[in-house]
Amino acid sequence: MPAVEKLIRLHKSLLVLSHGEGFIEHPRISKLKHIIQSCAEQLNVSRVSVWKLDSDAQRIVCEVLYLHETDQYYQGAALYQTDFPSYFQAIAEDRLINADNAITDPRTKEFADSYLIPNEICSMLDAPIFSSGKLQGVICLEQVGEQRIWDMPEMSYVASLADHISMINEHELWLRDREQLEFLEQYDPLTGLEKRNQFLKRLDFNQQEVGDSENPRALLLIGLDSFASINDKYGHTVADHLLVAFARRLEKLTRRMDCRLARVGGDKFGIWVPNLEDTEKLNLLTHQLKQMSRTPLKICNEEFVNISSSTGVVIYPIEGETVTSPMRCAELAMQRAKENTRGGVQYFAKDWLVQLQSKRSFEHELAEAIEQSKLVPFYQPIFCAEQESIVGLEALVRWPHPDKGNISPGEFLPIARKLGLMERLGSLMLKKACEDLVTFEQQGKSVGWVSVNIASEQLHNSALSEEIASLLQEHDLPACKIELEIVEELIGQNSAFVRSQLEALSSLGVRMAIDDFGTGYSSLSRLKHMPVTKLKIDKSFVDGLPDADNDRCIANSIVGLAKGLQMELVAEGVELPEQADYLKQMGCEYLQGYYFAKPMSKDEILKLL
Ligand code: C2E
Ligand code: CA
Ligand code: CA
Repeated sequence: MPAVEKLIRLHKSLLVLSHGEGFIEHPRISKLKHIIQSCAEQLNVSRVSVWKLDSDAQRIVCEVLYLHETDQYYQGAALYQTDFPSYFQAIAEDRLINADNAITDPRTKEFADSYLIPNEICSMLDAPIFSSGKLQGVICLEQVGEQRIWDMPEMSYVASLADHISMINEHELWLRDREQLEFLEQYDPLTGLEKRNQFLKRLDFNQQEVGDSENPRALLLIGLDSFASINDKYGHTVADHLLVAFARRLEKLTRRMDCRLARVGGDKFGIWVPNLEDTEKLNLLTHQLKQMSRTPLKICNEEFVNISSSTGVVIYPIEGETVTSPMRCAELAMQRAKENTRGGVQYFAKDWLVQLQSKRSFEHELAEAIEQSKLVPFYQPIFCAEQESIVGLEALVRWPHPDKGNISPGEFLPIARKLGLMERLGSLMLKKACEDLVTFEQQGKSVGWVSVNIASEQLHNSALSEEIASLLQEHDLPACKIELEIVEELIGQNSAFVRSQLEALSSLGVRMAIDDFGTGYSSLSRLKHMPVTKLKIDKSFVDGLPDADNDRCIANSIVGLAKGLQMELVAEGVELPEQADYLKQMGCEYLQGYYFAKPMSKDEILKLL
């Protein structure tokens, strides 16, 4: 047969084989068997085998050998580089080893005594298999009994077979990478547990599958307490170690029960109990969780760490509840467990959702009220102790609520803070204070100054002094009409930024007072260098005057301090005439409190002025 025709025939056979239905899906070994058997038949060759090179290239192992005559497969033989260096060099460097006379060919003759002669092999045709530029193995054809001259079509065909096996290798690598990727998407590499998404999918799927059936299920959410501080104290490696140890404990706990475990967050684990025939199973689980929480975990170097966990539990479906997901309910329960007693277990209660709803709407209303500038300042007069006349006013925020009346800051400031609205609220108060100052002037009811409370969020914004400057300009007010009250706690922090802010504010000419003085541990030396001209003695020290020894002692020393530093002094929260008398007698210049006047609306204050 002419060479070209033979070439075409051989390659066609290869195409037919590799494009056969499902060929690529076959397991590797079966693909290899197909290839070598077909090769043996097409070329009428005695033995065909595929060998795989070890990763260190020191050994090749026979993956499969086909004996044409007996139609049998073998595997497992191994050849070492140290025994056959010429051959190993040849497969690494040559495209093909066509040894017509294998006994004398320099590349294969080292096999003669141990392999070729005993097996009566006369000729060899080997093609190395490369994948990703690296030698991976070899396909090996051997003729038994008589010598054979390998022709060009045969050599080309065998080289193609090697390429084919190389493609199979690449495909396998790709599959393995894909599997690894899928694994990483679904499983947490640290603990090996399912990840949150995968876990939630399972919950959702189950919810749909079982629909609204009565079959109760439970979801437990377990959060490690104070994990952040463990991270800080021991570092990430130890913290990771702890997480793994904790996960293993949970695994041990859940293994015997029909439930699923996942790591649903950094330090949070979820347990899903799909079939909750009776609550006994759940009781057992929570009991064991509590106990587990009390047993210290061992970290490296024999050291033990006490680490507790708080658990939230929800049993669902919850009657009539379709909006809130079980995971959200479990999160709420876990949050409560953490707030109550750490290391405890808290079951979700349906009426929380009502509370949550009203909390949400309160938050929403507050945000809207701030956004729409509906919050207003109430004013509490500050009196001159000598003449008992009004010298200044403190602006105190109120929320005039349509149903609840004027809400005090104690109720909504923490929420505004949580919602990140303190700066907005502060700007609003500054603006309204300026507007009201203008009104007071216009109506001939002049006051010395208005004190405005400044939140830490405002003080940490470098645009504050610019904001105040432009407000003063806009309302045509002298800077001394505004006093800023800054809590001592903020001053005590000794931050260079806060200091520079205070200096910028002071250079505007606004007055500055330290609020709640005596509670914030500011150092006296620092105080001396602060651009502040007034102290407000905190109400807690005024309360016990004039009888309580310690309050008297503290009040006296604050008065002495203010005098020494040449600062003005205000006492807040004065409720009794004796307190007023005592403070006046001590030399405190300004007094403020219910004894003189409560905070009141702008209209009320206008009447009073
Ligand atoms: P604060 O600055 O120490 O204000 C004094 C608080 O004590 C005010 O409560 C005032 O109504 C109350 N008070 C005054 N005299 C007496 C008294 O004789 N007896 C008693 N029992 N209480 C008295 P309010 O208005 O509820 O404000 C509470 C806190 O909310 C303020 O404490 C201040 O820290 C904060 N705050 C109020 N308005 C604002 C504001 O516009 N911005 C910021 N950032 N905080 C504000
Ligand atoms: Ca104040
Ligand atoms: Ca105060």
